[in-house]
Amino acid sequence: MPKAPSPAQDTAFSALLEHYKKTALRTSGLWLLFANLCFALFLFGRHYFRPLLAPESAAAISGAEFDRMSLIFLVFFILILPLLRFVRSRFPAMALAFLTGLYWATLFHFMLSNDVQQQLIFPLFCMLIFTALIALYPAAPILYSFTSPLWVSLFYHLVFLAPSIPVLEVAAIIIISVLFETGRIMLNRWFVLSVRRECDNAMLVSKLDNLAHNDPLTGVANRRQFDSQLEQHIAQTERQGGTLSVIMIDVDFFKKYNDHYGHQAGDTCLVSIAECFKNAVRQPADLVARYGGEEFVILLHNTGAQEAEAVASRIRQNIEKAAIPHALSQVSDIVTVSQGIMQWAPGMTSLELLRRADLALYEAKHAGRNGYCTGA
Ligand code: GH3
Ligand code: MG
Ligand code: MG
Repeated sequence: MPKAPSPAQDTAFSALLEHYKKTALRTSGLWLLFANLCFALFLFGRHYFRPLLAPESAAAISGAEFDRMSLIFLVFFILILPLLRFVRSRFPAMALAFLTGLYWATLFHFMLSNDVQQQLIFPLFCMLIFTALIALYPAAPILYSFTSPLWVSLFYHLVFLAPSIPVLEVAAIIIISVLFETGRIMLNRWFVLSVRRECDNAMLVSKLDNLAHNDPLTGVANRRQFDSQLEQHIAQTERQGGTLSVIMIDVDFFKKYNDHYGHQAGDTCLVSIAECFKNAVRQPADLVARYGGEEFVILLHNTGAQEAEAVASRIRQNIEKAAIPHALSQVSDIVTVSQGIMQWAPGMTSLELLRRADLALYEAKHAGRNGYCTGA
């Protein structure tokens, strides 16, 4: 059975869905306005090719007036198109969609009331609502804001203003409505599904990234991440100048700790110790990493040997404060660490830097543990 998404996954999904809806609407909204502009242009210019009204027609609205309406609409669209990018929230978008729909509803009303090329109305209606569907299906409220005036205007004419209810037209409108709504639901489901997949993939990538770069026990960086960051920082310091130091840290008598308290307690101890390291450095500028076993290494950006010694001293204090009992340690009755500090010098490779830090650590061990030495 698939696992139910966690609240964090749900929040991430909702945020991503909202983001994609906005992105989709910004692009397709522009396209819809452009389509509307094309339809308006078509209506505006059509009677130059085919006379709109017979001269003897008793229509209440003339072709010239009709054109004036279309012209106003054209100007409206041309003005609105560049402004669309500033429409960021849902309500202005709904208002704009409703105004546009209202324009077409009014136009249909005049065309139906005036016997003006009625054969154009139904195809135009279909084209308008289906282009709107393609463009606005991720946001039903905006889509309905656009289409509802069109439906109302058509139904009103067919049901209330026609001398008798034209059954065929009403049936066609009902079929179109059903197609429209089922199409909207189907498209929206695909949209939501693809965003859900994108969200799952992003979470998977982030989990894999975490696994690839962090130590699963302590949560600090692993050796792979440390090595790559060290290379990058050395290259950057070489280019731009500045200082860089590393501190190699090893837990004192940790084998005895494991023997006495057990491996699980040893693991918990490593987690607490890593926490002490994290609290002693500037984050995220400095990088604490588990180098392997009970050895850690810290990369200190823009830090010389003296400042690194201050960090080492803070680490010692933090470990003392943590006061993890260690009955078998030969230097204290609590867990302690030894540290080797090395400052990078121009021309020094990462391997050489780490080798010298390791030597300094070795010195600290020999000097009695629970302290730090600085390499030269
Ligand atoms: P020294 O003061 O000279 O460093 O003595 P030590 O006992 O710490 O040194 P040694 O390298 O002999 O022992 C390291 C021990 O760390 C051995 C191993 O059992 C333990 N260790 C390494 N990785 C882990 C781990 O992930 N979890 C636990 N619990 N123990 C670990
Ligand atoms: Mg060791
Ligand atoms: Mg050790």
